[in-house]
Amino acid sequence: MQTTNPQSTATRAIFVRLTTEKERTEFYASLDGPKWWINGKRKDSDQGWVEVFRDSWWKCIFCGRDLAASTDALVEATEEHLVPRSLLEPNGVEPSVAHNMAACCASCNVLKGECIPAKDHPCWKSRQAYVKECYRFISSQRLKQYLRYRDHVEKVLRERAGE
Ligand SMILES: [Zn+2]
Repeated sequence: MQTTNPQSTATRAIFVRLTTEKERTEFYASLDGPKWWINGKRKDSDQGWVEVFRDSWWKCIFCGRDLAASTDALVEATEEHLVPRSLLEPNGVEPSVAHNMAACCASCNVLKGECIPAKDHPCWKSRQAYVKECYRFISSQRLKQYLRYRDHVEKVLRERAGE
């Protein structure tokens, strides 16, 4: 179990995925401290994405990939709700506000999915710490995918190279 001791911020968060409405309401009710994800202007879906990407310097908030490097990168990119809509909406909290949104590359978005840090982890207390912990989780998911696929990728590349 994680501790709520603020000095334990280096402790890696366990990530969880909530599946029922009951889990989501109980989880949200148990969060204490400042709720940074409710702050900022509401983003409308038509024009709001430009502001979201501009606020993120057109880079993925997690891995830093340049989303303006090509049209493909931008087309695939997503508007990330840092604290997922699936947690906020059942609790009557508006998810699409400035502090809860960021630009995110397609792969980081898929790797993060609906997973969130366990409720007692201190990263919930600041946006920066939360983003950092999410990036650590995404990186661990990316490593799992790498280990799963690397042999296949090598085989395909060798075949294509005629080796
Ligand atoms: Zn990314």
